[in-house]
Parts: sequence; C-alpha cells; structure tokens
Amino acid sequence: MTSPASAAMAFPADTYRLRLPGPIAVPERVRAAIARPIVSHRGLEFRAIWSRTIDKLRPLLGTAQPIHPLATSGTGVMEAALLNIVAPGERLLIVNNGQWGERFATIGRALGAAIDTIDVPWGETADPDVIEGHLNRHDYRALIVVHNESSTGVMGDLATAGRLVRERPTLLVTDTVSGLAGMDFQMDAWGVDVAVAGSQKALMCPPGLGIIAASEKAWDVIRRDDRLPRFFFDLRRARDSYDKGESTFTPAISLIYGLDASLDMIHEEGQANVLARHARLARGMKAGAAAIGLENFAKADAQSNTVACFHVPEGIDGTRLIRRLYEKHRTVIAGARNRLQGKMIRIGTMGAIAEGDILTDLMHIEDVLAELGHSVEKGAAIVAATRAFRCD
Ligand SMILES: *Cc1c(COP(=O)(O)O)cnc(C)c1O
Repeated sequence: MTSPASAAMAFPADTYRLRLPGPIAVPERVRAAIARPIVSHRGLEFRAIWSRTIDKLRPLLGTAQPIHPLATSGTGVMEAALLNIVAPGERLLIVNNGQWGERFATIGRALGAAIDTIDVPWGETADPDVIEGHLNRHDYRALIVVHNESSTGVMGDLATAGRLVRERPTLLVTDTVSGLAGMDFQMDAWGVDVAVAGSQKALMCPPGLGIIAASEKAWDVIRRDDRLPRFFFDLRRARDSYDKGESTFTPAISLIYGLDASLDMIHEEGQANVLARHARLARGMKAGAAAIGLENFAKADAQSNTVACFHVPEGIDGTRLIRRLYEKHRTVIAGARNRLQGKMIRIGTMGAIAEGDILTDLMHIEDVLAELGHSVEKGAAIVAATRAFRCD
C-alpha cells in the first residue's frame, strides 16, 4: 500500500503523469538543453541563442513586432502589460468570464486604474454588441480579453475584439499564456496591441519566463511618459535592449536554452501540424469524456484546444476524483480553485503529448469514476475518443 506521502518521496518517478493545464511535462530534449553550461549573457554565444529564440517565437505570435522574454511568471507579464499602458484613473474594460479575467481586474485596481468589467457567466464568451456598447460610452485605455481562459476552457474571440478597437484609441490587451503554441494566434492580423504569454504551457518549458509583445499603436502609448512609475517592467528599456540584440537585465539563461529547444521541436513538427494535433487531441478528450457522462464546461462554439474542463457528474465529489486519480494512477489533473471547487475537473491537452496520453487519461478517469460509484460503460471513452481522433 503506497500512501500519498511515500509516493511523493519516490519523486521523481517516471510513473508520475503531469496532466495539468499548466505547468505541463517538459520534454527530455528541452530538459537536456536547460542543463547546458551557463555562458556570458553578453557574449556572442548567448546573443545568437537569444535572437534566434525570439525569431522562432515570431510566427507563433503572428507578429513583426519586437518580442520581449522577461524572467517572470505569467502574472508578471500581465502586470507588465498594464503598467506600461495605464495611469491612475484611466479606464480599462475587462471581459470577466473566469479567473484570469478576474486577475486582470485585480491587477488593474491595484495599479489605480478605473475598472469596468463585463461579467459573463463562466463557460461563455462576451457578446460583441455588449463590448461595443461599453466602448461607445467611454474612452477606454484598453479592452482586455483573455485568449484562453484556462479556468473554464473557453477561447476568447480576439479577431472580433480587434475589429471593435481598431478605429478607436483603445488598445486590445490579451493573455495567451495557455493558448500560444497550442492554438492559433495572430497578433498583427487580429489587431492585438499587447500580448502576453508564458513558458510553462504549450511552449513546453518550465515556469519562469513571461513573454510580451506590443503593436505600434501600443508603443505610441508606452513611449508617452505619463504612465505609472516602473523600472524592471519598463518596456522602453526592453525595447532599447531588443534593438541591441540583448536582454536588459540578466535573462533566465537556462530557460532561454529550453525555449530555443522547444521551439525547434515545434517548428520541426510544423506550426500548422502542431495546432492540428492540439485540435485533434482536444476533440478526442472531449468525445471520450462525453461518452462517460462528463459534460464540457465551455460553450460548444468557443472551446479551448489546450485545456479541457468538465462538470463533475451529479453525486461525485470532484476533489475525491482528483485525489484518487493521483493515488491510484499518479495522474495529476486540476480541479477548480474558486467557487467551482469540487464541481469541475480540468485537464491539459497541450504540449508534447499524443493520442495515447489522452487514452490513458480517459482510462484512468473511467476507472476512478466507476470506483466512486458513477455508472460507466468500461471502454466507452476509449472507443469514442479513438473515433473522434479519426475525423479530421
Ligand atoms: C497559466 C496561466 C497564467 C499563468 O500565470 P502564472 O503567474 O505563471 O501562474 C496566466 N494566464 C492564463 C490564462 C493561464 O492559463
């Protein structure tokens, strides 16, 4: 009998299955790259790696603009985005349909901005007419829409949001921390003005790198010197360094090695193939889950391809389901860290994974659901997922 404590002591074991919506399992090739010796961050060797890593991010973000990797978490670049565009009292319009929209509102308030939120039922997206109504009523500094709301599995409609602000002074700020590299993202074509991303989701790296890019329209605002006081996160500094092909402060050298390698993996597979694989895996996961009574949390026309969120069936304790998945199968998935705790499960469908990983997840979930007394037809999830994988 293995207790959770002794299982934890056996860590790291190759039976541990990290299946969260982030951080995700880091592929061997990336971990090997991270283990390389540290070199001078101002020397020729590192400058080459820094610049080529940024160049390899460019097609994923879909931008011709400078891209700035910063040594911080996802929340750090969310804060950096607002620090560089708001001043106290300026208005922000935030689509709040989950935890990350809520976090943007909290950060904005902490910085002294005036926050208006469009509160949408979790699992849904905002009605563009409602967004437009707000934009017509006030001069907003920015409209904020999360690309991939990983607390609900909802994908935001950035192309529409971009059209709504294009002819206005309002900037479109978006968080694609859990979307980038797993879902289509077209910063320039959609009219996204500030995009933030992180290393630990579909970019397949450990946590610790935040990535931020800004449009010309956003740079006009950033360069005006009427913003909040800032230093480390001052994007004007990052931009000066970018123009010299380096990082302002000591970069997270090892994580850049890792990102260099993970971007090679992505481009060797082909960006379009990577996105198609994520779509296929998400489709299989959802079809398999539906076959054993797990209803998708996100509305059908706006579902993420990197995170799958399901209602826990009536009568089942979601917290127990998650605990048993770990104790019995060492499969680590997420619940909800909010009012949905115990009622929702969340699983990552991103990174260096394949159909077999999804089938294993489903097999384990099926097993534990049955143990907890939910009536499931054993094997139904596998059959449904396998069929769904095939219908490209
Ligand atoms: C995971 C995630 C983050 C991460 O923030 P951290 O500060 O790195 O924990 C931010 N936004 C979204 C949408 C995410 O999915």
